Amino acid sequence: MDRFIFESYAGLEGQQLLGPILRDFAGKAAVISSFGAESAVLLHMVSQVDKATPVIFLDTGKHFWETLSYRAKLIDQLGLTAVRIITPATADLSTRDPDGTLHKNSADACCRIRKAIPLAKALEGFEVTISGRKRYHGAARATLDFLSIADGRLKVEPLAGFSALDIAAYMKTHDLPHHPLTEIGYFSIGCEPCTQAGGTAADPRAGRWSGSAKTECGIHWTQSGKDIVPPAGSVRH
Ligand code: SF4
Repeated sequence: MDRFIFESYAGLEGQQLLGPILRDFAGKAAVISSFGAESAVLLHMVSQVDKATPVIFLDTGKHFWETLSYRAKLIDQLGLTAVRIITPATADLSTRDPDGTLHKNSADACCRIRKAIPLAKALEGFEVTISGRKRYHGAARATLDFLSIADGRLKVEPLAGFSALDIAAYMKTHDLPHHPLTEIGYFSIGCEPCTQAGGTAADPRAGRWSGSAKTECGIHWTQSGKDIVPPAGSVRH
């Protein structure tokens, strides 16, 4: 299976990769989107293929209101009809983060109950995941492959080879709206407590978990660069 898949899509990226993937795996592929600074590009590409593609948004309960507003705007403008808003388990919040301050003491634990565990459940039944990560974001993302296999699931990164200029050009060409926080200096946007203004094209994620060693939320890697250990029975991603 792996060899067949890799040969089938060899040399493709961007829309040329996304289109065949969504058609070949219709009903089996899910897009993961933060509706952050550059999310409009991948979401626009998805909308050009199938507006009913499942799009998973992890609503951690800690997002900027601007992100939730932007999410609504993009859904409306792009005509997306299958955005799934995934929230943390009430039991996990009440036992692990009853006062909502876990992020201050253990960001990894907070990301785990608010992102990694809900995502693992949301992805049950899907064979393919698609996200909009780019190599130019550096650190663990610098060596992203367009296609990889993780835990028996195909991971697709159509934008892996896109630069900041490519993103800007695509946004302009398709007249896509910008996340409002990008207008005031936010280059990469996650949860409000863990995101500060800042970042550059050379280091776009500088404002994420600023002042700590953490660089990833854990749905892909922990800050040490290792896969987060999944709960029993869940799917690691
Ligand atoms: S980014 Fe921050 S607030 Fe959001 S889930 Fe992770 S630690 Fe919690």
